[in-house]
Amino acid sequence: MQDIRFEQATSFKQKPQDESKMGFGKLFTDYMFEMDYSVEKGWHDPRVVPYHNFSMDPATSVLHYGQEIFEGMKCYRRKDGGLQLFRPRDNFARMNRSAERMAIPQFDEDVAMAGLEKLLEVEKDWVPHTQGATLYIRPTIIAMDAMLGVHAAHTYKFYIILSPSGAYYAGGLAPVDIYVEDKYVRAVRGGIGFAKTGGNYAASIRAGEIAEEKGYTQVLWLDGVEQKYVEEVGAMNMMFVIDGKIVTPMLNGSILPGITRDSILKLAKHLGYETEERRIAIQEVFDAAHAGHLNEAFGTGTAAVVSPVGALCWNGEKLIINNGEIGPIAQKLYDTLTGIQYGELKDDFGWVVKLN
Ligand SMILES: *Cc1c(COP(=O)(O)O)cnc(C)c1O
Repeated sequence: MQDIRFEQATSFKQKPQDESKMGFGKLFTDYMFEMDYSVEKGWHDPRVVPYHNFSMDPATSVLHYGQEIFEGMKCYRRKDGGLQLFRPRDNFARMNRSAERMAIPQFDEDVAMAGLEKLLEVEKDWVPHTQGATLYIRPTIIAMDAMLGVHAAHTYKFYIILSPSGAYYAGGLAPVDIYVEDKYVRAVRGGIGFAKTGGNYAASIRAGEIAEEKGYTQVLWLDGVEQKYVEEVGAMNMMFVIDGKIVTPMLNGSILPGITRDSILKLAKHLGYETEERRIAIQEVFDAAHAGHLNEAFGTGTAAVVSPVGALCWNGEKLIINNGEIGPIAQKLYDTLTGIQYGELKDDFGWVVKLN
């Protein structure tokens, strides 16, 4: 086990009284994990320290050119009070793949894992007790050089912050209405779509605002070349159930390779569903629906796990899916995967990391 330095905090925040009102990503715990990179020392001084602001030169490169990456995962509290993580090593492995694309130096995944475990040991009381609520974990790396040249930085900061977050769905799995974006694109092949990096989200915000004005909660992105093929939703991969088969866009470099996507595909096969990863034209989805073959549609991602899609708006048509209700396959996959994540169902896949 790596040696992680620890610095005691002197003041502590009040923990939320009502865990149902926490929302997402608004509240942060008392400590954070941090380590730094320099060319001479590599990644060094891994430490758990009191949560604090950063002081930055206004010229710091991350602020100008967005050389940064992040991850998102959760810590779950079991019924017996113990804590567990879900596939955390896969998050750190994906973070290193994002790092490579963004010319950020690779970090030691064992050190990141040891740092996260130490941080969670110190902050275990912050993991919510309410069913459905979790401690959201946000690892991040930012470029720290204070200079305006467009180059890979020579100094970086890796940090992990923790945010207790309420149940994604207050009253059951509520289907969302989604706007299929036909003007803007999110990512192109050869670009940075597969990396969890800030620029992808910056590029998506305007389309999201316009969709919201029209009464849709999220945007479904089409491919960046022809705008014909389904890519993904803001922070979720997309799945369709066509004639009972689960179909999802294949990973092509412009889609984020979701860990929930991968888990759902493996779980679905295990449960006996047929699955297929391939290119899916948006026209095919609408044609299937018109012919009565589209049974369900849902998104997959760490935040919501499974998010049923009640309607898709494209080309002037609002397509209602499964009467705007959650379908049996989405419900089954959601129940099974969250059952594994909370330690209520047996994990046949080796996905869960128990902390105590
Ligand atoms: C994080 C993210 C996802 C979902 O990935 P998970 O590993 O399942 O949480 C999907 N799409 C985008 C763009 C994302 O940022």
